[in-house]
Amino acid sequence: MLAQNFDAILFDAGGIFVLPDPTVLGPLLAYHGGDPAISVHIRAHYAAMAAKSAAGVTERDWQPYNEAYVRSVGVPEEEVSLATTVLEQTRNAYTWRWPIPESLIAIEGLRSMGMPMGVVSNASGQIAEVLARSGVCQQGDGAYTPMRVIIDSHLVGVAKPDPHIFDFALAYFDGIERSRIAYIGDSVTMDIGGARAAGLYPILLDPYDDWPNADFHRLQSLEELLG
Ligand SMILES: [Mg+2]
Repeated sequence: MLAQNFDAILFDAGGIFVLPDPTVLGPLLAYHGGDPAISVHIRAHYAAMAAKSAAGVTERDWQPYNEAYVRSVGVPEEEVSLATTVLEQTRNAYTWRWPIPESLIAIEGLRSMGMPMGVVSNASGQIAEVLARSGVCQQGDGAYTPMRVIIDSHLVGVAKPDPHIFDFALAYFDGIERSRIAYIGDSVTMDIGGARAAGLYPILLDPYDDWPNADFHRLQSLEELLG
């Protein structure tokens, strides 16, 4: 799916721009027998998101995510329960801070094309600051890629998959038809479901082909948008 198909692009933040920091979670779970390699942890995030979506749970329940994550990094079965608890206690909102290199390249490319962009994130009031600290983007001009708006669910009081969260962002994209605006996320239930309900064009970032039979578009990397 090329960027040229759209007049604007909105992005999820977690799993799209930043990941739960593998340099924190690697050593944390190595204690329980997990592989601390960064590539292993990147893969684990998407496996865990797929498990979370398959379980049909929304923002509050991260148990399927945590279990799938620790299994994916190779924590042995007898340690899974304890490691899942440890991950749940540690992976707080502020640990979603490790910038995805391909995504940074992609949004800079989109910026140079003049693509209007924004962020809509289920977050805890921290996401705009973390995205700037991690060198990803900020609302308006600044040191990193400019976004027209960065919406944090905690601050607006609505969370995906409720489609009304997108209204807060769409106010910054006046005159652009919803069907011409892509929303790129990594959750089938929250992102694809929410964007569809809002009339946007949903796209799943699915780097490991976890959803081969999907009835929506998928990207292996945001760089694909650039062709
Ligand atoms: Mg996400």
